[in-house]
Amino acid sequence: MVRVKLVNVTKRFGDVVAVDDVSFEVKEGELFTLLGPSGCGKTTTLRLIAGFYKPDEGEIYFDSEIVNDVPPYKRNTGMVFQNYALWPHMTVFDNIAYGLKLRGIPPPEIIKRVKEIIEVIGLKGKELRYPSQLSGGEQQRVALARALVIKPKVLLLDEPLSNLDAKLRLRMRGEIRKIQKKFGITTIYVTHDQEEALSLSDRIAVMNAGKIQQIGTPLEIYEKPNNVFVADFIGTTNFLKCTLVEASKEKGKMVVEIEEKNYIINEVLENVSAGSELICAIRPESVEIYDIDKAPKDKPVLIGKVLFMHFLGGIVRLEVVTEGGQEMKVDVRRQPGQRLPREGDKIALVLNPQAIRVFKR
Ligand code: ATP
Repeated sequence: MVRVKLVNVTKRFGDVVAVDDVSFEVKEGELFTLLGPSGCGKTTTLRLIAGFYKPDEGEIYFDSEIVNDVPPYKRNTGMVFQNYALWPHMTVFDNIAYGLKLRGIPPPEIIKRVKEIIEVIGLKGKELRYPSQLSGGEQQRVALARALVIKPKVLLLDEPLSNLDAKLRLRMRGEIRKIQKKFGITTIYVTHDQEEALSLSDRIAVMNAGKIQQIGTPLEIYEKPNNVFVADFIGTTNFLKCTLVEASKEKGKMVVEIEEKNYIINEVLENVSAGSELICAIRPESVEIYDIDKAPKDKPVLIGKVLFMHFLGGIVRLEVVTEGGQEMKVDVRRQPGQRLPREGDKIALVLNPQAIRVFKR
């Protein structure tokens, strides 16, 4: 069942088109993330869903009902803001109970529900503390509990982890996912942090300049970015110049040439012809390295020179320049005792053709 649906939604502030013809569906129980750089329209989209803004064009549906004209307090959403927005003069208990009181829930029911949720978020014994007496992570959990306790149809989270230090952010990420799953609550999550989005989400909508660039599961977005923006924004990607040699729609294959080596790609681009100059994208982990004299004879091989080596623990990232003058990053999974190339060494680079994405220039 579809819980939230946006159809061709546009929101302008004066000349700025903050949200530009955006459409997507969020299914019941799904954690759906809006991901993109600062200013791309994520928060505005979330606020449109919460009802703080009205679309200039398009429709927003909750289930099958259009809610464009429904005020925020009637939409039954719970929202967690970047700064948590807890009431400083209220205890943990009262902060969480506030929304229930507003809704006229009888006091015995309020006590029961607040106690339950405090148990879930692991803050038992801290009910009478004020926000200033809590750590950042605890405040974040209170904000989450306050949003969840009203049993909203949809939970809206606007960069809820951005104020936490790196370690806590990681822990809270896991907790949010656990709580969200436990309640089976439809959640729309806004972040500019691609790692957070990849690790948390059922599906991600990548946004740029008010527009949706791609919607997909984390794996789809990572492995099959459908344009240069997504490939560049998500993870690390090498972009290499290439030329189309031939393409066969029937076979669903094309041959591209990178530095005079041919690669067979299992996809075909529309509206390109032999000789077209294109861009190949490949992740650092999809390139294998060999000593020059041990390079496989049956695969296309590029020759590169190691410029820098970054030791990252289990992985070593090499910065390499090819004979054709193109710079690449290559990740080598380190085995104990393995000899690694040194800066200045020449190495053979084997690109996995299945991992190459081809885009128009
Ligand atoms: P961030 O990650 O920095 O919060 P965002 O992706 O959430 O960014 P929005 O806050 O949705 O982006 O802003 C989208 C665009 O709309 C930006 O260019 C912003 O300057 C503009 N904008 C947002 N709110 C308003 C407003 N109330 N009045 C005028 N312009 C606005």
